[in-house]
Amino acid sequence: MDIETLKNTLLQRVGESKAPNEVLKASEFRELYAKIPTLAPEERGAFGRQVNELKQAVEAAIQVREAELEESNVSPIDVTAPFDINAKKPTLLPSENGTTHPLMQEIQLVSDIFNRMGFVTEESREIDDQYHMFETLNFPKGHPARDDYDTFMTVETDKDGDPLIAPAHTSTMQVRSLIKYRDNLARGESIAVVVPDRVFRNEDLDARHEHTFYQVEGVYAAKGVNVGNLVATLQAFLEEYYGRALKTRINPFYFPFTEPSFEFSLECPFCENGCNICSQSKWIELLGCGMIHPNVLKAAGIDPEEYTGFAFGCGIDRLVMMKYGIEDVRHSESGKLNFLRQF
Ligand SMILES: [Zn+2]
Repeated sequence: MDIETLKNTLLQRVGESKAPNEVLKASEFRELYAKIPTLAPEERGAFGRQVNELKQAVEAAIQVREAELEESNVSPIDVTAPFDINAKKPTLLPSENGTTHPLMQEIQLVSDIFNRMGFVTEESREIDDQYHMFETLNFPKGHPARDDYDTFMTVETDKDGDPLIAPAHTSTMQVRSLIKYRDNLARGESIAVVVPDRVFRNEDLDARHEHTFYQVEGVYAAKGVNVGNLVATLQAFLEEYYGRALKTRINPFYFPFTEPSFEFSLECPFCENGCNICSQSKWIELLGCGMIHPNVLKAAGIDPEEYTGFAFGCGIDRLVMMKYGIEDVRHSESGKLNFLRQF
């Protein structure tokens, strides 16, 4: 084999090797070196130079190859160091590998049902101020009922110096919704808004309590709205959601932001004579509701002498748990695949 052919062979070997430096130890090199003393003295110089040039060419190729290997072999992305300079643009997994979370599917369904009834859907926010959490809802500063809404607070404060909060109910959106759609009333139309979104409580966790869950808020205002409209709306929604006729009832209750206020119960959809889900009572206390308090309408710049309305707030996790017989509220935030894959 002449030296030129050998050079091509060795360079190719370097280009394919994971350990290119090893090529310098190839037997071909040893044979070339061994050949030098056997040559006639006048041939040795030229031959030696050729062997040297071959070695230099191989060494140069090894450097190139090693740089190439280094480039393709960066350390694995360290998730605890998101700004690692080694980090490459992540490849998104194909969306068909996943599915919509069961709670999100149900929230979409809840929203769709209300949309068909003429409600528009609005989003809540995950950090809010105490003005929308309490003041607009007729809980003045120092009102004892504020203690029922223990949630998380930020270090940052609002313009009154109060900490910002993670909203403990979607009712923070009531006055905003009334203001946003207030012009509907002047046109003789109603205000009809639902807010299905995330809320937070400072809870000790157990099968019935989560720190993060979902509610759907409903706000409806127009001329001449009464309790009958409230009950009919909720009943129509629940019958659509559970896909069957249901008996409902209301009992007096207290909320600062509705007057009168009610606890809305429905006949247990799962039994006729009592079961675990209804604690053998055949009724399930499902949600709080009532006629919007005149002070709340006033906070939104709506004249309570002219217009009335109703509002309700319903836990979505609870609706879903009852629909599918889910025994522990913590499953939905757990990310457990054996739970999620059932939907
Ligand atoms: Zn039951």
